[in-house]
Amino acid sequence: MHPELAADLSRLPALLEETRQVAAAFLASLDERPAVPDAAPPAPVPLGEGGGGLREALAEFGERWEPRLSAGAGPRYFGFVTGGVTPAALAGDWLTATADQNSNSSLDGAGQWLEHETVGWLRELFGLSAAHSGTFVSGATMSNTVGLAIARQWLGERLGVDVAEEGAGALGRVRVLSGSAHSSVAKALSVLGLGRSALVQVPALPGREAVDVAALERVLAEADGPCVLVANAGTVNTVDFDDLGALADLRDRYGCWLHVDAAFGAFAALVPEHAGLVEGLDRADSVCVDLHKWLNVPYDSAVQFTRRPDLQAEVFRNAAAYLGPLGENPDLVHLTPENSHRLRALAAWFTLRAYGRSGHREIVERCVAGARALGGAVTDTPGLRLLAPVRLNVVCFTLTEDPTPERLAALTAAVADEAFLTPTRYAGVPALRAAFSNWRTTEADVRRTAAALARAVQALGSDTPPGP
Ligand SMILES: *Cc1c(COP(=O)(O)O)cnc(C)c1O
Repeated sequence: MHPELAADLSRLPALLEETRQVAAAFLASLDERPAVPDAAPPAPVPLGEGGGGLREALAEFGERWEPRLSAGAGPRYFGFVTGGVTPAALAGDWLTATADQNSNSSLDGAGQWLEHETVGWLRELFGLSAAHSGTFVSGATMSNTVGLAIARQWLGERLGVDVAEEGAGALGRVRVLSGSAHSSVAKALSVLGLGRSALVQVPALPGREAVDVAALERVLAEADGPCVLVANAGTVNTVDFDDLGALADLRDRYGCWLHVDAAFGAFAALVPEHAGLVEGLDRADSVCVDLHKWLNVPYDSAVQFTRRPDLQAEVFRNAAAYLGPLGENPDLVHLTPENSHRLRALAAWFTLRAYGRSGHREIVERCVAGARALGGAVTDTPGLRLLAPVRLNVVCFTLTEDPTPERLAALTAAVADEAFLTPTRYAGVPALRAAFSNWRTTEADVRRTAAALARAVQALGSDTPPGP
C-alpha cells in the first residue's frame, strides 16, 4: 500500500474527527458567511507527484476553496429553490459514503429494499397510492426526463411501435402540451430525441401561470394523435398550480399521458391548508418530486413516481449476464438511467425517520410563513412592489421605478452579504425571486432580509445608470 494511504488508514478515526471539526466549523459559519462570496477561483496549482495525505488535503481545502463556497445550506440563500440539510439528512449522507453501497440490484445487500421503504414513506407524505412505484434519481431534471421517457414509451405503445427498440424517430411528430413548463422539460425533450420543439405552450389563465383548461381542451380536440400533458404543480416564479383534477379528466377523455412536475409543490400536500393545491396528484401517470429542495436532504436527490413501471423497465432495462432477470419486480438497475448508483435514499430515510410527517410539515409551514412575511415587507417598502401574490413559498417582486435588469442586479449586489436572490422575468417585467425552502430560515432571517432590501432600495434611488 502507498505509504500515505497506509498512514491515513492507521489513523482513520482521528482523521474523521478532524474532518468532523471542519464540518462543524463550516456549519457554524452558515449564518454569518456571505450568502454567495466572490466566485473567482483561486490561483491554480498543479497536481504534482506526492500528496501529503488527508491532513494536508484538509488544510489546502480550508485555505483555497472553503472560503469561496456559498452559504447555500444557510437560512438566507433564497436563490432558485434551494433546500438545506437537516441534521439527520447530513448524518444519512455521511453514512451513505461510509457504506458505499451500489444498491441497484438484488445481487447486493438490502440497499434497494431501503430505497423501496423510503419511496413508500414519500408516497404516504405526498398522498400517493400504492399504484405509484418510485425510484431515486439525481434531481428534478432527471426525474422529469425519466417521466417523459416513460411517456415516450407509452406513445409508442399507443401507436404500435417499441420506441426502446426502434428509436424516437418511429413516433413521428410528438406534442407535449404545458402551460408554464419548467426549463428542464425542454432539456429533457432534447435528451430524449423528441426535440425541444415538441413542447407546445398552451395559454395560461389571465394573470396566472396555471394552464387554461378550456384552451388545453381545444388543442386536444384538434390533435391528430395521442399527446403528453405536463402539468405544473408549483411554478418557480409565482408557485402557481395547474388544476390537476381537471387535467386528469382531460387525460381520461382524450387518452393522453399526464406527467406532473411537482418538484417542490408536492410539499403542499403536507399542510392541510395547502393540500388542495395538489389534489389529483395521485391520478398522474408520472410525477416528479425534488428532495434536495424542500425535503432538505443534500444534493443530489429526487424521486420519480409512475403507474407504469413495466414501460419504465422497457426503456431502462440493462440486459447483462451478471445482472438478475427482469421478472415482475425488476431491480433498480433496470429502472433508472444510471446502472451503478449510491444509496441515495439513505439521507431521505434518515430525515423522514428522525422528524416524521410533523417535522417536515413544520418546515413547510415555517417557509410559507416566512415568504408571506417577506411579501408583506416588500409591499410596505417604498420603491418595491410584488408582481404576484405570495401563493406558497416564493416572493416575486420588482422595483416600482424603472425595473431594468441592471438596476435589479445592483439591488441584489447590495444585499448579497445578507441574502441571495435570483433574477427572473415575469409577465414581461424583469424581477427578483426569493424562494423559501431551507429548514433553518426563521422570522429573524426575514427581518434581516427585509431591512437589507429597504436600505438597498433607498440607496439605489430612482437614478437610471448611464446607458451603453
Ligand atoms: C428545480 C426544479 C426543476 C429542476 O430541478 P433540478 O433539481 O435542478 O434538476 C424542475 N422543475 C421544477 C418545477 C423545479 O422547481
